[in-house]
Amino acid sequence: TRRVVVVGAGMAGVQTAVALREQGFAGDVTVIGAEPHQPYDRPPLSKAVLLGKAEDSAFDLDFDSLGVDLRLGCEALGVRPGDRELDTGAGPVPYDVLVLATGAEPVTLPGTEGVPGVHLLRTLDDAERLRPVLALQHDIVVVGAGWIGAEFATAARAAGCAVTVVEAADRPLAGVLPAEVAAPMAGWYADSGAELRTGARVERVEPGAVVLADGTRLPAGAVVVGIGARPATGWLAGSGIELGAYGEVVTDARLRASAPGVYAVGDCASFPSARYGERLLVHHWDNALQGPRTVAANILGETDAVYDPVPYFWSEQFGRFVQYAGHHAAADRLVWRGDPASPAWTVCWLREDRLVALLAVGRPRDLAQGRRLIEAGRTMDPAALSDPSRPLKDA
Ligand code: FAD
Repeated sequence: TRRVVVVGAGMAGVQTAVALREQGFAGDVTVIGAEPHQPYDRPPLSKAVLLGKAEDSAFDLDFDSLGVDLRLGCEALGVRPGDRELDTGAGPVPYDVLVLATGAEPVTLPGTEGVPGVHLLRTLDDAERLRPVLALQHDIVVVGAGWIGAEFATAARAAGCAVTVVEAADRPLAGVLPAEVAAPMAGWYADSGAELRTGARVERVEPGAVVLADGTRLPAGAVVVGIGARPATGWLAGSGIELGAYGEVVTDARLRASAPGVYAVGDCASFPSARYGERLLVHHWDNALQGPRTVAANILGETDAVYDPVPYFWSEQFGRFVQYAGHHAAADRLVWRGDPASPAWTVCWLREDRLVALLAVGRPRDLAQGRRLIEAGRTMDPAALSDPSRPLKDA
């Protein structure tokens, strides 16, 4: 392989370039990114960057000394796998190996695209637009009580805004956590002084207000929409590269897409997990850090590197540090470890007495030990597990 071309200059794209050099790849590496900014880290956008505690979150990397040809402000428009050529706004780019790392795009609220005062939170530009909005201490309506909605509400409360969070489901994080785990988390909104309205649908956004389906008018100096994200793969239509149910690039266990010489990694791709017995589409930072190492190893071809991680992520919301490792299914047995009304607790999921996932609130040690236990696949004693005073690793 002489030329590796990476599309997307986010965490996964940049880490692919870094991993290639770390693993000794000596050929050309080109990274093409649509955004004009120096590549940056996204998690701080809903935390320190939003609150102005950090100017930006650019990766501390010198692309020149890495020998990486970084082309910013350049959008990939299509790919012709038969010709091994990528089409971009700046013309065609030939490749031997192509790595798709275009991440995800936020889902918009129908009818509000481009409406002034309606914001998304995905990019540095979004965060920079939102910073002065917070400073105005307006009434803010957040649509969606997911991870982004909770983190944005946290920042907006810290900035002194009046915050109402509108959620269509009956609880926060309905797509990811069972009702009994989400229930205590719903209380965090009120504790922080934010109002959470569940089972509420947005009918329309008017200047200065959000109107709900039941007719309620919520004053809104600004609206922030956090209702999920979808793989940014629209540009691959017609390329013949297989896309999955969520529009993600479908890869095999070595992160190879369906066309020869093409890999996909990060938020834009799903991979088959032998560990969990299903295909996983992970939209978290750690996956965009770990996956690229497997991609690089396979490009170098010295190992038969299979990607089958224990997924991990964290969220900082309402003064709490929330961490999750693994992957659970509805049928897995839920075991509480600690009182959910207290500041720190953990929930474990067992499948045939093996730990498959855990959610830790303010218990980083449980997370660290749990992650290793999940990896090891050791059987656990549910009764011992439920005693929060006992180290998880001894259960
Ligand atoms: P991205 O970061 O989306 O990068 C993809 C890049 O590709 C983008 O810059 C995009 O402009 C570019 N691109 C797209 N299409 C094209 C094209 N056609 N041509 C050229 N370039 C293109 N995860 C956690 O685990 N913990 C957190 O606390 C956390 N907080 C987050 C907070 C926010 C506000 C956001 C938005 C995400 C957060 N995440 C968090 C998720 C994490 O940031 C993502 O999982 C991670 O950024 C994925 O990296 P990626 O490189 O796959 O995609």
